[in-house]
Amino acid sequence: MSGGGRAEGRGERAGERYPYLERLQPKMDERLERKVPPAGRFCGFCFGRLQPHDTRCPYCEREVAEVGTAREVPQEVLRIYWTKRRVEARWVHAGAMLGLAIASLLFVVLVVWGPGLLGHPGVAFAVLIGGGYLLAQLFGPIIGGQIGYRRAVRRRDALWAAYLARREAESEGRG
Ligand SMILES: [Zn+2]
Repeated sequence: MSGGGRAEGRGERAGERYPYLERLQPKMDERLERKVPPAGRFCGFCFGRLQPHDTRCPYCEREVAEVGTAREVPQEVLRIYWTKRRVEARWVHAGAMLGLAIASLLFVVLVVWGPGLLGHPGVAFAVLIGGGYLLAQLFGPIIGGQIGYRRAVRRRDALWAAYLARREAESEGRG
């Protein structure tokens, strides 16, 4: 990149390496959820869906005449986006489970050791339900979601980098 003031080795922020993957993710999510038809006209480089009048890909900004088009997104590429979803979802789920586990522990602590009103099963139960909800939200979508998102993006970008390298090697091999 020209004029790059960014210090090297400082590690890029999630999604900065391939900005078009970030733009494509919601589109690929729709494709994975079968909300859009699988066939169409796609960019031959990044597999973003092209409009009939597009001469330049709106995602990777490459000239369509140069990179060609594809009629569908290869399964191999869809799997890369699926991995991003899976990794992120796993972190959200694990975080929510941790939140529920903490609330359950609090419930037991209150029932067993809670002094006075705090030891009342009704109060402990309210802590279990209300606290469970709040802690599941906190550790799930908020904390787990953030960590999961960064890890998932890094993983997706690494898979895409490997895909690009393989594709390049194959096209060179063909001549
Ligand atoms: Zn493209």
